[in-house]
Amino acid sequence: LREAYAARHPESLARHQAATEVMPGGNTRSVLFYDPFPLAIARGEGARLWDADGHEYTDFLGEFTAGLYGHSHPVIRAAIDAALDGGINLTGHNLLEAELARLVTQRFPSLERLRFTNSGTEANLLAITAARHFTGRRQVMVFKGAYHGGVLTFAGGPSPVNVPFPFVIGTYNDSAGAAALVKEHAADLAAIVVEPLQGAGGCIVGEPGFLRELRRLASEAGALLVFDEVMTSRLAPGGRQAQLGIRPDLTTLGKYIGGGMSFGAFGGRADVMAMFDPRAPGHLGHAGTFNNNVLSMSAGIAGLSRVYTPEAALTLNARGDALRERLNASCRAHGLALQFTGLGSLMNLHGTGAAIRSVDDVPASERFVKDLFFFHMLEQGFYLARRGFTVLSLPLTDADLERFHAAVEAFLQRYGPVLP
Ligand code: PMP
Repeated sequence: LREAYAARHPESLARHQAATEVMPGGNTRSVLFYDPFPLAIARGEGARLWDADGHEYTDFLGEFTAGLYGHSHPVIRAAIDAALDGGINLTGHNLLEAELARLVTQRFPSLERLRFTNSGTEANLLAITAARHFTGRRQVMVFKGAYHGGVLTFAGGPSPVNVPFPFVIGTYNDSAGAAALVKEHAADLAAIVVEPLQGAGGCIVGEPGFLRELRRLASEAGALLVFDEVMTSRLAPGGRQAQLGIRPDLTTLGKYIGGGMSFGAFGGRADVMAMFDPRAPGHLGHAGTFNNNVLSMSAGIAGLSRVYTPEAALTLNARGDALRERLNASCRAHGLALQFTGLGSLMNLHGTGAAIRSVDDVPASERFVKDLFFFHMLEQGFYLARRGFTVLSLPLTDADLERFHAAVEAFLQRYGPVLP
């Protein structure tokens, strides 16, 4: 499959080789690299992508969830055009930022006040900093398998590029373990930061009881509970927190909320966020040239108010649940130890039939299955992440989902016999 891939993509290979002369490994975004070389994507439209060699793909990755609206959605495009007409570097409070802030606070009521950033990474850095200042404590509890940004990653153990906060690392969905760690570190614990579903970790669902226990433990210890909803906010009109009925102290957002433009936000309790009020003596500074950039603000307003309405969120995620159930039924019908984990519009293939409650349950051997799956699906015209991450976005039609299911069926037929 690798050889067939290389033969099919000479232009991608040439572009990759040329790029290595100016960027290390030809890459500026680690997640996009894979062997033998990554595809060069030339263009997108709706739910379709074309690579530099002219192959067409149906996009089942959607920019790792930021591409919810698809490529060149007319409403988003009009909003960006309108912003361009008014000038893009206004160097002032503009007419859009408070409007987007109001839409976000209405949608996610635990964000009583919020501030914008340029990325989900920055949002998490600022939320952690806010919690440390508010509590006067230093330590930050996170979970193995978590991804909170390029400098806050715990997927394969803590990364050497991580910001050196003193982290306490728990096991996802292990309530008793979390309770023991909180007890041990209570006096200096500033925050518990958690994804309600671990996205990069492999779409591992946070169990409601575990997340409720974190809420209780944080309150008891006087630490702040931070929900990283950069990915999961799309799962329901009010995000995963609304589905679970859990009110975190702080929440971080990103991805689609900026309409597909650069975006991040952090917010929550008004008393915590008041630390950033520039009218207050001794306030915390939070600067950023592009925090309120009009392209993200305008696209975000259009997206939340006119496209990803609460009804649209419910429909998209119900379609995702239905697709995942069908894919899993196919895996079972073939008698294979494979499954798609996830919730709503987010799913990930795994090479085991057993329950996955944390990254410890993910077998190392699944790498082989995921590689096969990735190259098979590309050949069939479906673009998804090398690690099996699959994301539904709005322009995908029911016929696209049918074709995706058929391609998965073909994978199970063709490779089922050779899978471990
Ligand atoms: N948190 C989570 C849960 C994410 O999935 C991501 C991005 N994949 C981030 C934070 C970081 O966001 P960004 O890439 O915008 O920095």
